[in-house]
Amino acid sequence: MYLFSDFDGTLTSQGKIDQRFFEFLNLLRAQKLQLVVVSGRSLAWGQFLLTHFPIDYAIMEGGGVLVCRHQGRIGFDLLLEKNDLERLELITEKVIAQFGEEIFSDDSLGRLSDRAIELQALSEEKLEEIKAFLSQCGAHMSQSNIHLNFWVGQVSKALGLRKLIEQYLNLDVEKLRKNSLYFGDSANDETAFEFFENSVGVSNIQSVLGQLKFRPKYVLSGQENEEIGGVIEFLKKYSTGAK
Ligand SMILES: [Mg+2]
Repeated sequence: MYLFSDFDGTLTSQGKIDQRFFEFLNLLRAQKLQLVVVSGRSLAWGQFLLTHFPIDYAIMEGGGVLVCRHQGRIGFDLLLEKNDLERLELITEKVIAQFGEEIFSDDSLGRLSDRAIELQALSEEKLEEIKAFLSQCGAHMSQSNIHLNFWVGQVSKALGLRKLIEQYLNLDVEKLRKNSLYFGDSANDETAFEFFENSVGVSNIQSVLGQLKFRPKYVLSGQENEEIGGVIEFLKKYSTGAK
């Protein structure tokens, strides 16, 4: 069985990986669940996750790229067309000319299918200005707890999930949609909340809940259910059938 989860704000603790992440991995092993990370982070982060943790698949860049372990090697599959990438590059040049290079995320190196803007230290006013500019350029956007991502073409966590399940896991999409769990914390998890029948929003999702058309089936509350604390507590209860 597979368990699907966002990473930042969901499997972290105040933005860091701490000992509870390893407690979570042990819990997965005990419950015979295989983790698939579904994140807005760049391809290089996916390669890192597969290199150092017991993970065979990650959907990165919000669904634009799949990272897979195959016969002991780590490879990737870029899910966008060449002309979409060329248009993205043109828009990126315009954004740089307008706002400067410093607005781009710290994990931008090696990003292929999208670009990300660091939200930390960006005023609400500036963010709105950037969003309006991107919208004028015809870019699609999605916001996580850390980044504003933009891209050209068809990219979403749900599309990445469908591709992974059908072509890499060779499993029935409808069955997985019904039987798997997804954890997330932000607006960029919305298509995954729509995709999975059983999804969980950790309690730090509360501030963006009002923006979501598709909400997680279970929304956790309380400080103890923030980020990975909520994931661990939910998994412990879920396995015993008490949600
Ligand atoms: Mg997140």
